[in-house]
Amino acid sequence: MAGTALRRRLTWQVAKVAAVAVETASVRTITLDVPDWPGHQAGQHLDIRLTGEDGYVAERSYSIASAPGEPIAITVERLDDGEVSPYLTDELRAGDDLELRGPIGGYFVWEPGDGGPLLLLAGGSGVVPLRSIIRHRERTGSSVPVRLLYSSRTLDEVIYRQELDQAAAGVEVLYTLTRHQPPGWAGYTRRVDAALLAEVAWPVGESPLVYACGPTSFVEAVSQDLVRSGYPPERVKTERFGATGGT
Ligand SMILES: Cc1cc2nc3c(=O)[nH]c(=O)nc-3n(C[C@H](O)[C@H](O)[C@H](O)COP(=O)(O)OP(=O)(O)OC[C@H]3O[C@@H](n4cnc5c(N)ncnc54)[C@H](O)[C@@H]3O)c2cc1C
Repeated sequence: MAGTALRRRLTWQVAKVAAVAVETASVRTITLDVPDWPGHQAGQHLDIRLTGEDGYVAERSYSIASAPGEPIAITVERLDDGEVSPYLTDELRAGDDLELRGPIGGYFVWEPGDGGPLLLLAGGSGVVPLRSIIRHRERTGSSVPVRLLYSSRTLDEVIYRQELDQAAAGVEVLYTLTRHQPPGWAGYTRRVDAALLAEVAWPVGESPLVYACGPTSFVEAVSQDLVRSGYPPERVKTERFGATGGT
């Protein structure tokens, strides 16, 4: 990457919050006006920096929820005992300033030329960069087949549910609800394990490309299961959000 573009990515700048939208009880999508945005790829993230009145600084990473070419958006899940996420989900309002830098990351990204079929595996808020990939596929007119397996504790905690339920042709969305299922639930009801992956994963022979994202324990479990079942490690891309999570 040219020096100027790299410097721009890694330099902090002040964005303005354009809108805050409710996704679930604990999740908000924050759309940002970023004055100097060099463009991004589906799957990348950005860093947010909060500075307290006493000068205390906290930085966290957030995946970019929007597709390349769309207004920059992040989707944040509130962790009740968290330092940064409760501020972003509960305090931040349209018109506020927010310090950020990015886009960051060149590995967990997808372009139509990378092919597929795509197997997208999401644990909780791990669906965020995968949503960017799905939107990018649609906006570019790609016909690469996509299967998203999304693990959530309850149906109410599913992020982007309406959008995913109306996904474009060629995008198959499968849910597993690990803690509570509504009456008549026809989807999966257990944590993603080797047997569940064997049911939903594309055959190895079709050269699928995998993107797994979510709590560290979820990502490690699913990627190890896939590699054990014959998926080449270089076709299994992972993004760990930290901690363990309950998905
Ligand atoms: C590349 C990358 C992309 C990310 N994208 C997103 C995103 O799109 N949306 C999003 O909501 N978060 C995302 N995260 C996680 C985010 O960076 C923060 O870790 C998260 O918001 C918690 O920050 P906090 O300051 O509120 O909590 P902290 O004060 O850092 O932690 C509070 C408590 O929660 C635990 N914890 C920390 N992170 C998590 C987690 N992810 N899940 C469960 N428990 C946790 C800690 O161990 C601690 O006990 C991403 C992380 C990475 C590395």
